[in-house]
Amino acid sequence: MSPKRIALLGATGSIGSSTLKVVRQHPDRFQIVAAAVGRQWEKLLPILEEFHIPVAAVYDADAAQALSKVYKGKILSGMEGLLALVSDSNVDYVLNGLVGAIGCNPTLEAIRHGKTVGLANKETMVMAGALINTTLKQHPESSIIPIDSEHSAIFQCLAGRPAEEIECIELTASGGPFRDFPKEEFKNITKAAALKHPTWVMGEKITIDSATLMNKGLEVIEAHYLFGVGFDSIRVVIHPKSIVHSMVQFRDGSLMAQLGSPDMQLPIQYALVYPERLLLDIARLDLTEIGKLEFFAPDTDKFPCLRLAYEAGRRGDTAPAILNAANEVAVAMFLDEKIAFTDIPKILERVLGKASIGPLNSFEEALAADAWARDAAKS
Ligand code: MG
Repeated sequence: MSPKRIALLGATGSIGSSTLKVVRQHPDRFQIVAAAVGRQWEKLLPILEEFHIPVAAVYDADAAQALSKVYKGKILSGMEGLLALVSDSNVDYVLNGLVGAIGCNPTLEAIRHGKTVGLANKETMVMAGALINTTLKQHPESSIIPIDSEHSAIFQCLAGRPAEEIECIELTASGGPFRDFPKEEFKNITKAAALKHPTWVMGEKITIDSATLMNKGLEVIEAHYLFGVGFDSIRVVIHPKSIVHSMVQFRDGSLMAQLGSPDMQLPIQYALVYPERLLLDIARLDLTEIGKLEFFAPDTDKFPCLRLAYEAGRRGDTAPAILNAANEVAVAMFLDEKIAFTDIPKILERVLGKASIGPLNSFEEALAADAWARDAAKS
């Protein structure tokens, strides 16, 4: 078997570094033939050197310029650079670990070019889920395999069974660092406290989204588009230890769960070799050591972002794109210490309230909704 030729988007992020660990364990199976980042060219350089990667894309033009002075390979930049990289005929598999809305268009382009996409970029399905599904139907040689731990768990539990056999999807959530926090104290939550996630080590944006439960809300929307299940059949279950990564309740009453150590190498490797299972050197679970697993219903009164995500998901069309863009702006403002933790859902609610939500038939419509929501959130 010749190695799978991978374009790794978001090579310097947490998904990127877990992917590199997987590739290092199986050099005979995987070859990274292209890598992309937003702007962290200094961190990308040693990766390009270690894996002898001939093509790189850096979204930020100045950063691309800086990299091209020290690396001899082909360096692309801008959105055109990302799109050229994923559509390259030398690429079999696009692993999209980009953070934010810039990850959406490369997924669409990869599908149009018949690639398999390992998807860790949440914004793709949230911004343009319906459009992605239409494009997948037009390109049946393409497919999306989810990498996010919850969606990988659902994908593993489904094992190829069709949507009509699903009664309910149960998405597990750690509940974040403020699960047991009294509601009155939410307004005093600091950036430092919000960045301490109890179980997963992740990037800053997603860690804040975990603290507000918006991360779970976005995952509900993603699950709807990835698995073709209605919002009434997607439930969020708080499970503080993050051992059960999600569950599928089938119509015959069987509840399937996927369990594992919280290590992204597993869903990444599974997405790369599905339906095969390869040896992977990560920690094994010992349930006798864990002893007890707990599950609770979420408190949407304390975490209004979860409720807002269901509302936007049910509304459909451009509403999820608007929610996502407004959330990116609000989280960035919180990380800059310009707004309080409790201002995040307030901003989202106001932006959604005054949005004119329209149909989503093209990527341009998703982008327009995204841009409008960013401006609205800033003001
Ligand atoms: Mg997740």
